[in-house]
Amino acid sequence: MNVLNLDSIKQDLIKVAHFCAVKGLVPATSGNFSARLENQEILISVSGKDKATLTEGDLMLVDFLGRAKASNLKEDDENAENGVVPPSLKPSAETLLHTQVYRTFPNAKFIAHFHSSSSAVLSKVLLKQGIKALKLEGFELLKALSGVLTHDYTEILPIFPNNQNIEELADLIQPVLEKLANSEKPLHAYLLAGHGLYTWGSTQSETIRHVDALNTLIESYLLEMQLNKVMQGKEEVVEV
Ligand SMILES: [Zn+2]
Repeated sequence: MNVLNLDSIKQDLIKVAHFCAVKGLVPATSGNFSARLENQEILISVSGKDKATLTEGDLMLVDFLGRAKASNLKEDDENAENGVVPPSLKPSAETLLHTQVYRTFPNAKFIAHFHSSSSAVLSKVLLKQGIKALKLEGFELLKALSGVLTHDYTEILPIFPNNQNIEELADLIQPVLEKLANSEKPLHAYLLAGHGLYTWGSTQSETIRHVDALNTLIESYLLEMQLNKVMQGKEEVVEV
C-alpha cells in the first residue's frame, strides 16, 4: 500500500473516532477503532488513549491474528533491526473482535466500537431477562443502515455476555457472525451486554452513519419502552 493511501485511511479512521468522542460515546478512553489494509493487516487504535485527541501516532498495525507488526517501529528504533515489537506498543485489548469481523465480512473496511451508557444498559437488562437479541423496528432511521430501504423493517442485533477473556468471547461470537453473514438480511452490528456496541461499514462515512443511526435507534427504543409504560391504561382516541 502506498504512503498516500495509508495516510488517507489513517485520517478517515481518526474522523470515525473523533465523531464518537464528540457524541460522548467513548467515555474515559473507552472504545476502539480500526481500518482494513491490504494483505490481512489492519490499523487499530492503541490501548488507553482518549479518542477525542486520537492522532496518527495512536494507531498501529496488526495482522489478522492480532499480532503487532514490527513495521510499527520507527527506522531509528533499535528494536526495528531484529523485528521485535516492545511490550509498550500495545494494540487494543479487543483486537481479536475486530479481526474476526474483517475475516467474516469482506466488505467491512472500518469498525467502530463504542461504550455508550444506553447500549450498555439496554443490552445488560435484555440479556438478564434471557433476551439474546435487540429487535429494532418501525423507525424511519432504520433506512440509514446500508441495504435497508423502508421503515417497515426489523433489524436484529445479537447480544453476547461480556467477558474479559477476548479469545473466549471471539469463539462465542464467531458462529453467530458466520450464520448471519450468509443470511438474506445484512448484519450491521452486535452488542456486548453491559459493555457496548460493535458496528462496521464499507467506507468511513457509512461507518459514521451506522454509529449515529444505531446510537439514536437504541435511545429511541429505550424512550419508547419508558413511554409505553407511562401510557399504559391512558390511551384515548383523539380525532384530527
Ligand atoms: Zn469495549
